[in-house]
Amino acid sequence: MRPEILFPLFARVSSLPGIGPRLEKLVERLAGPHVADLLWHLPSGLIDRRFRPPIAEVKDGEIATLTVTVGLHVPPPARNKRVPYRVWVSDETGEMPLIFFHARTDYLQRMLPEGEKRLISGRIDFYQGSPQMTHPDHIVEPEKEAELPLIEATYPLTQGLPQKQLQKAIHAGLERAPDLPEWNDPAWQQKNAWPGWLAALKAAHVPERPADLEPDSPARARLAYDELLSNQLALALVRRRMRARAGRPIKGDGRLRRQVEKALPFALTGAQSQALAEIDADMASDRRMLRLLQGDVGSGKTVVGLMAMLSAVEAGAQAALMAPTEILARQHAAGLAPLCEAAGVTLALLTGREKGKAREETLSRLASGEIDILVGTHALFQEDVAFKDLAMAVVDEQHRFGVHQRLQLQGKGGAGTNVLVMTATPIPRTLTLTAYGDMDVSRLTEKPPGRQPIDTRLVSADRLHEVVEAVRRAMATGARVYWVCPLVEESDALDVAAAEERFGALSHTFGEKVGLVHGRMKAAEKDSVMARFQSGEISLLVATTVIEVGVDVPEATVMVIEHAERFGLAQLHQLRGRVGRGAGKSTCLLLYHGPVGETAKARLKIMRETEDGFVIAEEDLRLRGAGELLGTRQSGMPEFRLADLSAHSELLAAAYDDARLIVETDPELEGPRSAALRTLLYLFERDEAIKYLRSG
Ligand code: ADP
Ligand code: MG
Repeated sequence: MRPEILFPLFARVSSLPGIGPRLEKLVERLAGPHVADLLWHLPSGLIDRRFRPPIAEVKDGEIATLTVTVGLHVPPPARNKRVPYRVWVSDETGEMPLIFFHARTDYLQRMLPEGEKRLISGRIDFYQGSPQMTHPDHIVEPEKEAELPLIEATYPLTQGLPQKQLQKAIHAGLERAPDLPEWNDPAWQQKNAWPGWLAALKAAHVPERPADLEPDSPARARLAYDELLSNQLALALVRRRMRARAGRPIKGDGRLRRQVEKALPFALTGAQSQALAEIDADMASDRRMLRLLQGDVGSGKTVVGLMAMLSAVEAGAQAALMAPTEILARQHAAGLAPLCEAAGVTLALLTGREKGKAREETLSRLASGEIDILVGTHALFQEDVAFKDLAMAVVDEQHRFGVHQRLQLQGKGGAGTNVLVMTATPIPRTLTLTAYGDMDVSRLTEKPPGRQPIDTRLVSADRLHEVVEAVRRAMATGARVYWVCPLVEESDALDVAAAEERFGALSHTFGEKVGLVHGRMKAAEKDSVMARFQSGEISLLVATTVIEVGVDVPEATVMVIEHAERFGLAQLHQLRGRVGRGAGKSTCLLLYHGPVGETAKARLKIMRETEDGFVIAEEDLRLRGAGELLGTRQSGMPEFRLADLSAHSELLAAAYDDARLIVETDPELEGPRSAALRTLLYLFERDEAIKYLRSG
């Protein structure tokens, strides 16, 4: 249960003054539903109103606060609404107009009565050599000078939400914020000279100088650390709980592996063998395995997963391989079947599409232990699926699932099921820690030999016909081509070359050789198109990003990506990874529709310069910040509100150590620091971790 002290922070934002139903929606979209969310919305700028020049000394573009006498009002001519309303103001040194567009006369006369003194504050701009101020931010009577904020924090906004209203709501929120017990280790707190939580929060919202807006300011660093610590502590608790469950030692005798190895057309790389050795050691121990196998696209994770599963089968148990999509599950089943056959291992497929009798038969063969390896989608973990003895679960392309799903899956396997998660997402080290801090990590650092670099080029969409010609030439030499279009769903208002349209146009050019696959097609249709592409019956596949994950057609050597400027780096990298998987030389054409923004330009440039997924991921992190990377919401990556991993990675490392130490010395969070730490977990809504404590 959430501690009472946090209740004011978890009140709805609509309970704040000035936040009615209309603004509530906007604030919710901008920050979140609770007062706490709004308090995590930190200012991005600051306006210093302390500068008080005489009119004669104002400069273009600066924020100034002037003490003036109001002079003549000059309304626009009745019939010309585009001419602004002018109010002349003066001091001893000169005069200048205040400019108001679409002004209400009565309002201006009330605010600026002729002959009276006023303080006005706003941005000076020069028009035809003379200063003026358009829509002053503040107009204050001299007696009420105190109402004029000297330094004003400004916040990122969303359309329709006025700065002033947001500032007011945040300040009201700050007044309600409770003082929370200190959860930081005293020595650490002292070493950093950080303020306490409430003081830090307030300071972050009342910056006094630009340096206060920097991520390394004491207030911001402290808040970031709080968030990182809650993340790491939650993961450490989950991890501890997973470890606490006894595993079962699984030790294969190598007989099946040897047969599969003989059937493979290649030898394992050093990196693959190394990862396998780490997996074997985990499985042989009496702790359950919880390991992440990280390897760039095309690095050969599948065969490592297979070998790991074979150990389980050698030990007389069963194994499962779960893929995130139907296409991938089928591809895995088809690819692994001949290898399993060579070793006399029984493999079956189970997806949402297996129904009725066939499904029942599979389930009964699974329950009897006749099936050694089950490959499937989420359907694998449905309630009526019962293994005889599941000892090993491999999850492919995990980045689509989060910690929650991971927990669910482990529950399914019964006591001691070993779990190997494989991901192609080149998550930077820092992010790995935040998302997978509960797991051990193996990395495939080298690619199988013989791969040629992919020739990546940026091509303006104006040159589409040249691209089509290049594709024609490639197809004439027997190449297989992917042509990727942005998602249909996103096309609403945007000028997207929808996949269907492109398919139509390319079919017109290339006839029967063209296929189309997108997310809205029925699964069976998708499969049949994929199968035809795999077999070479069609050689140009128009696709949406459904092909992003895992699809393996080594013969494909050309990748065209339309509107490449709209994709994130990670996604581009995943897409490009669909080619360059065989021995043939591959090409990737990134079509952009200009004009392209600075960030998009930088992304495309990185794509051209490197194929190293980790470099790309680090660059992505730098360009976009962790929040946006991979689209956190779908990816299961934690979303940070206060921490900025590109600036706070050292704090992350410290939080990692801190969390480990806490869980080691006080595993049930019962010690003196721990009441505060529990509050911290609730504050950042990491409640699920508290469930793992004895007295949760
Ligand atoms: P990913 O890590 O992206 O899942 P895959 O497991 O699909 O990669 O492997 C990519 C391709 O590389 C496949 O065609 C696979 O057969 C091949 N491959 C895997 N390991 C090796 C190896 N050691 N030597 C040569 N080719 C390999
Ligand atoms: Mg794969």
